[in-house]
Amino acid sequence: MPELPEVETVANGVDARVRGQRIVDVWTSGKPQTFKSPESAIVEVLTGARIERVRRVGKTIVMDLGREPNEVKTQIPPGNDSKKNKGKRRDGEDDSSAPSGAQFLVHLGMTGRLLVSRPEVPWPPHTHAVLSLNSGPNETAGRELRFVDPRRFGRLSVVMPSRDEPGGYTGPGAEPTTISAEDFAKLFKGRKLAIKAALLNQSILHGVGNIYADESLFRAGIRPRRQAGRLTRAELARLHAALQQVLAHAIELGGSSVSDYVDADGVRGFFQLEHMVYGRAGELCKTCAAPLRKIVVGGRTTVYCPQCQR
Ligand SMILES: [Zn+2]
Repeated sequence: MPELPEVETVANGVDARVRGQRIVDVWTSGKPQTFKSPESAIVEVLTGARIERVRRVGKTIVMDLGREPNEVKTQIPPGNDSKKNKGKRRDGEDDSSAPSGAQFLVHLGMTGRLLVSRPEVPWPPHTHAVLSLNSGPNETAGRELRFVDPRRFGRLSVVMPSRDEPGGYTGPGAEPTTISAEDFAKLFKGRKLAIKAALLNQSILHGVGNIYADESLFRAGIRPRRQAGRLTRAELARLHAALQQVLAHAIELGGSSVSDYVDADGVRGFFQLEHMVYGRAGELCKTCAAPLRKIVVGGRTTVYCPQCQR
């Protein structure tokens, strides 16, 4: 399953290749589980829209969409008097037929991939959406953005900005790569659950998966079963620093292999972070040579060093 650094890498790679391009045509596969929004809504919102930016929110890839003002005008349904439309604009509401500010959300699930391909390259099996791109200044103009997902745990949807979330989709939980040490510490105040379970809880922090939870707890020297609300200030400061370092390092490594991921069809390669504990149960700790222990916390396999972590 792609974790936060992989999703960030994919989002950045797709952004570099499709930003500024216009979606001229949309094809969808008709597999209902892939589409969280009705396919007709996805097709309607995406067709003709310009991709303003592609970024990561939690483990979701968010494409901010825009339209040229003159295109918005032609989309106003006939019969609506102009006063009514002007009034709507003043309220800061988008006319439903002018999806400026709409967003396309891609959740990769277990096996979902986004590929930027030349149109003549055959579609891989399990292709569920194809966005034909046109215009735009870079050399990938005229290519297709394809969503391929053999196991179909991935989800595609469109959202419109609302009064509650004027900036669009923000997802649940805090963003781990940018949160301050102070705000990070506040997240765990009074929490009775194990720190490992708290790190994985997406409504507390979004996007932290099993690998990065185990690796950051090792680097911070904290046992995974410790009660989150009982960690000291110093421990939380170490955990904050460790988590951000581990994620930043993984994003950096992912960045060097992104062209494999989004350019070449079918090749998937991320340089793996050299794991200290994750996946190494029974092996010796790289720091102190004690055998690493495996336990289950919050239903997830957890590996830690009984000597380095307290
Ligand atoms: Zn150790």
